[in-house]
Amino acid sequence: NERIPSPSPLSDEPDDAAIRPARFDEFVGQPQIKEALAIAIAAAKKRGESLDHVLFSGPPGLGKTTLAQIIAREMGAGIRSTTGPVLERPGDLAAQLTALSHGDVLFIDEIHRLNPVVEEILYPAMEDSCIDVMIGEGPGARSVQLPLEKFTLIGATTKVGLLGSPLRDRFGFIFRLNLYEVPDLVRIVERSARIMQTSITPEGAAEIAKRSRGTPRIANRLLRRVRDFAMVRGDGRIDAETADRALTMLGIDHLGLDDLDRRILSVIADDFDGGPVGVRTIAISVGEEVRTVEEVYEPYLIQIGFIKRTPQGRETTGAALRHLEGDR
Ligand code: ADP
Repeated sequence: NERIPSPSPLSDEPDDAAIRPARFDEFVGQPQIKEALAIAIAAAKKRGESLDHVLFSGPPGLGKTTLAQIIAREMGAGIRSTTGPVLERPGDLAAQLTALSHGDVLFIDEIHRLNPVVEEILYPAMEDSCIDVMIGEGPGARSVQLPLEKFTLIGATTKVGLLGSPLRDRFGFIFRLNLYEVPDLVRIVERSARIMQTSITPEGAAEIAKRSRGTPRIANRLLRRVRDFAMVRGDGRIDAETADRALTMLGIDHLGLDDLDRRILSVIADDFDGGPVGVRTIAISVGEEVRTVEEVYEPYLIQIGFIKRTPQGRETTGAALRHLEGDR
């Protein structure tokens, strides 16, 4: 089930490391975040301290992992990466924390999915650089405090609201990443094409950018597919027409919507008379997880004004109906 908007890597992405920006000047867009981070990093370095903990929120594929790696690199620190659901028991997190050297970064993706018992270990770790571990079992068990090296926790989450305040309040910086505008996506596509040694016209890059749902990861994915199409069906050069033909063949329309987007819209518009309908019902109707509909699909449909969220549920808009009509 390899959907283009999928948050996990697809099978044809071995070149991801080459494309991923390694420094702030290669990271396109998000000027406020880059500037705030650059200042914080320079100040921390001047003081000879580790950087305060950082939380990034926003839909998948917008550069949260990339920023964490850039921060570690700029701090001259090592980085360990893990995700919330993988840290099942307190010992899993303790193992990560005790393996950190002074100033290192611990990156926890999907930090909102941490087991609450594991999350509690993080509080003293973030605040006082120590963890409480239980030694022994039964009545003889006792808790000892284990000191940790000073470290920087970088958390990533799709929505800040999914985090409880005890965790959220322990971050020194909270940055929200929004979907990217087309001009930034054009720059990302052109940069990636250069690295892939693929020739692309400005119009070709614009066509891919417009159909990337505001998401750099998707822009790179579409670029790879269009590149393959151009190599097989043409001379390898990407222009607006090759991009359009390749993306249409993949079922991606002019706004970047795929068949799941269209099914979500049609469930609300046709099966539920335009809504309001709850996200759970929508997810069941299209046979997807609630999380996929809510975190991967909805943000873009809301951004382009096709879905409205109301306290009663989701509603389609006139613009969505006109778009669906155009399809039929
Ligand atoms: P997230 O952690 O938010 O899901 P990632 O940091 O893994 O997203 O980014 C996904 C891919 O998109 C990266 O491999 C990178 O190549 C690309 N990317 C993300 N943000 C940018 C950006 N601002 N400039 C250039 N490329 C980007």
